[in-house]
Amino acid sequence: MGRLVVVSNRVPAPRDRLQPAGGLAVALRAALKEGSCLWFGWSGQQVSEKEGHDPEVSLDKVENVTYATIDLTHAEYDGFYQKYSNGILWPLCHYRAGLMDYDRKDQVIYHNVNALFARKLLPLLQPGDMIWIHDYHLFPLGQALRDLGVTAPIGFFLHIPFPPWSLMRALPEADALLRAMQAYDVIGLQTEDDARNMNDGFSLGGVKAKAEVFPIGIDPDSFAKQAEDGLSNPDVQRLKESLRGKPFIIGVDRLDYSKGLPERFKGYEIFLERYPEHRGKVVYLQVTPVSRGNVPEYRALRRELDEAAGRINGTYGDFDWTPIRYLTHPVPRALLASFYRLADAALVTPLRDGMNLVAKEYVAAQDKANPGVLILSHFAGAAPDMEAALMVNPHDADDIADALHKALTMPDGERRARWDHLEPDVWRVTAVTWARDFIQALGKARLA
Ligand code: UDP
Repeated sequence: MGRLVVVSNRVPAPRDRLQPAGGLAVALRAALKEGSCLWFGWSGQQVSEKEGHDPEVSLDKVENVTYATIDLTHAEYDGFYQKYSNGILWPLCHYRAGLMDYDRKDQVIYHNVNALFARKLLPLLQPGDMIWIHDYHLFPLGQALRDLGVTAPIGFFLHIPFPPWSLMRALPEADALLRAMQAYDVIGLQTEDDARNMNDGFSLGGVKAKAEVFPIGIDPDSFAKQAEDGLSNPDVQRLKESLRGKPFIIGVDRLDYSKGLPERFKGYEIFLERYPEHRGKVVYLQVTPVSRGNVPEYRALRRELDEAAGRINGTYGDFDWTPIRYLTHPVPRALLASFYRLADAALVTPLRDGMNLVAKEYVAAQDKANPGVLILSHFAGAAPDMEAALMVNPHDADDIADALHKALTMPDGERRARWDHLEPDVWRVTAVTWARDFIQALGKARLA
């Protein structure tokens, strides 16, 4: 087996290199467990503009992985990351063309940064390498490497949804982007819908369809252990005491318009209105760390949620009861694991989501003798494999309200039966199987 070279926009910061923080980093660790590996990407640092910016590659080796990172200039960060990746591609891929803030000049910066990645990676490559590129920041990187003469197998995985081609075409350079994707030997997507959408685009362009499905998962054994072991943690104890035996509902989502949070709050409000027997008797904790705070849509969403939480708490709250405990700062994942275990129900109601790992983590964290109920949107990438959850349409606040009532009044037998159906898939499709299957497919491409 040759060396695996992983490329992603962000590479974990030095302090996170042994215990990576984010979901993507955790999954990639599984891919980088064996053999000698290289992980290339942006350092997370921005530097001032200089004439003919030519960043140095900084190298750091931890165990079997060499981390190679470059800095970006403020202008590159702004055009490539904030504007084109997060202001155009992100909304479009989440079916929200109306939120796209399109400007042609950002596309130029996006392509320049991809070309810069290719130029800086090239001297680090060795014969026998296999290259695995990640996510929407780097769609054209494979082509940029081919343009420099790289013949190694190159794979690409998209962690977010891919919309129907008729919608994707709202992007002026959609055709060119998809043509560039021909440079890849393997293209992986999260769900059948995503793969079909991308392949429709390929076939309309008269080129070979090659998108395949490689759903991502978590490390369920270690997550389940963390959930159980953490119960004695003082912070978990504090939460438990504050519940005073009340039914506990949890939601955990980055603050993002794809997560359906205003709709969810509305659902909870209708739940309190239509099922008054739950007033004063339930605790709903919504953990929503602020992300991408510089993008205007995210600032507007933050205001909208602050206002909705304030209104619900003001209207339905009492001097000894807060309807929503709403946090906009992150909670460590290890602590969340035990929070999930204490929760009688979880609300995972995105309008559109690549996979949604929180849904899988919630299932993994449960006590099998007394599992909680997962309320899940049809539009999460996790939905096709998790239909034993209480499925809802996140646009329909009444549907969310009814599901909450049903979850909190569900007979024990049904709760266990639903969890028994959910459990096998969470253990079958994991971060490890995802990485293994993709790398195997890429290995075959090398031999073909
Ligand atoms: N997470 C966390 N602390 C928080 C909020 C989220 O550790 O305060 C973790 C969560 O447990 C999950 C990941 O962040 O592992 C979010 O992944 P998901 O696929 O659900 O959503 P994404 O943020 O990638 O869109």
